Amino acid sequence: MDSTDLKDLSVIIVGAGLGGVMLGLLLEKLGISYTIFERAKTVKPLGPVTTHFFSRELDSTTSCFRRSHPIRYSVGKKVLSVEETEDHALINCSDGTRYFGDIVVGADGAYSGVRQSLYKKLQSEGQLPNSDTVSMNVGFVCTVGTTNPMDPEKIPLLKDGTTKFCQYRMTTVNSYRICWTLSKQHINDGEGNDLAFRNSEWAPETVETSLKEFYNLPCPFGGTMKDIIDATPRELVSKVFLEEKLFETWHHGRVVLLGDACHKMLPAAGQGAMNAMQDAVILANCLYDLKSTRQADIKSAFSVYHEQRYPFAKAQVESSRLAAKLTCDQGMFERFLRQILFVWLPESVRRQNLLKTASYRPQVCFLPYVQNRGQGPVMPQKRSWRREKELEDQRQGETTQSASP
Ligand SMILES: Cc1cc2nc3c(=O)[nH]c(=O)nc-3n(C[C@H](O)[C@H](O)[C@H](O)COP(=O)(O)OP(=O)(O)OC[C@H]3O[C@@H](n4cnc5c(N)ncnc54)[C@H](O)[C@@H]3O)c2cc1C
Repeated sequence: MDSTDLKDLSVIIVGAGLGGVMLGLLLEKLGISYTIFERAKTVKPLGPVTTHFFSRELDSTTSCFRRSHPIRYSVGKKVLSVEETEDHALINCSDGTRYFGDIVVGADGAYSGVRQSLYKKLQSEGQLPNSDTVSMNVGFVCTVGTTNPMDPEKIPLLKDGTTKFCQYRMTTVNSYRICWTLSKQHINDGEGNDLAFRNSEWAPETVETSLKEFYNLPCPFGGTMKDIIDATPRELVSKVFLEEKLFETWHHGRVVLLGDACHKMLPAAGQGAMNAMQDAVILANCLYDLKSTRQADIKSAFSVYHEQRYPFAKAQVESSRLAAKLTCDQGMFERFLRQILFVWLPESVRRQNLLKTASYRPQVCFLPYVQNRGQGPVMPQKRSWRREKELEDQRQGETTQSASP
């Protein structure tokens, strides 16, 4: 299959989160046919995660999404299960519709229906590792929100126009608004994990009760947290479980997972969205190098994707757990750890660690290469045979042209 045959490939992406949309954009560049199926009917801004959907004035979120990306997607489509044969993969939606493709990508978040459907089948066949049968670990219960515009006379920090980020995970954003996150460690009473699976949306009364627990806390921008909570319209408040789990099985046959669907990180280190996008980059690179749409070639492309991404996702799940401990836990051990890492550890060691993490910068192999403009090292990346062949063909074409009279 040469690069023009990539157009024969058809990809079903389940989930229009950052990972799914990023993959869609990359497939668009490659001219690969794809459709994103999203269960939500509209796009709702919830905290830092969906900030790219905001317009400058923080309104009209859905139209902003539609205008800025040439994405092919179908909203209001909840995918219930996935099936595959030697020749194709298909999804079954809750409205009774089915869609066929060569590949199904489960980019449908932490409670991925694609993953659950795939795992059910693998488990019945005795092919699922034991660790993948265990539920996600619920670390924190967290409420997020975005306030209405607030009075800068009462909160002077809002005046200077720069973005402030502070503990409690509060961020000033445009038009004198504040995005906030309030987290509480989850005590596992045996109920939590099951509840987590049931509650993608919480009842409003439960949200109000959680919010009241934070009312009297001092707000880092002045006043108490009650002032911030009172200034937040309830449709812009959401309560979520913060879980973590690194799944071992990322693909099987014609089905592959990306983002939170295969590695759910605690958000303390702010790495979940970036890792979902890095997955999309590497998966797109692997699809670009696909030799044919036969199941064996698809399987080997997915293995290369897993090989390249798994170690980095594992490291990020672990460092996100450490970051959550450092920023949220109040025990003696965590206080001591904070003292070691933030006060005693030499700046040079901290910088080395930062450089090491920042050196992983995978690039889209079919777009112009971005040169390193910084001083830190960049980790080498797996080469693309198709890109190299295209560049070689191009070089030969230029040589022939310059040799001809
Ligand atoms: C409170 C909070 C704060 C966070 N802060 C940060 C941060 O600062 N930085 C950072 O990098 N990350 C942060 N994260 C993590 C980040 O949001 C996720 O890692 C990232 O959104 C994962 O992207 P994704 O595309 O894999 O999944 P998601 O963003 O979860 O998208 C999945 C999409 O699939 C859809 N979907 C689900 N099931 C179905 C189905 N059955 N059929 C069809 N569609 C379906 C969903 O509606 C959703 O649109 C935070 C997370 C939380 C909860």
